[in-house]
Amino acid sequence: MSFFESLLDALSNKDYSDGVKCPVCNACAYWDEDEALWVCSSCGYEIHGDQLQLDKHGNVEKTLEIDWYCDECGAYLNDQLNFNPYDNEWTCTECGYVNDITKDNVW
Ligand SMILES: [Zn+2]
Ligand SMILES: [Zn+2]
Repeated sequence: MSFFESLLDALSNKDYSDGVKCPVCNACAYWDEDEALWVCSSCGYEIHGDQLQLDKHGNVEKTLEIDWYCDECGAYLNDQLNFNPYDNEWTCTECGYVNDITKDNVW
């Protein structure tokens, strides 16, 4: 079985009705059987278990957003007005610092 076929097989065995969205770039993520985690097909971000909200059947209901904090003043960015986690950067409304909010900056 080729990698692609096994990927399709893995996909068909799971309920991906709504799929899983990457919390970094909002693209669709796929299930990596070997690593047993979700991987974004666009940016490669690995979605960890605590970022997934499951329904009572264990299916993924949605992907929780990453918590972002200002690199400069430590303000909680998700609460700031019009914050968009899918932009590549965000200017902190507290101190004006431009934060890089791509996957390379997740920690
Ligand atoms: Zn992504
Ligand atoms: Zn700040």
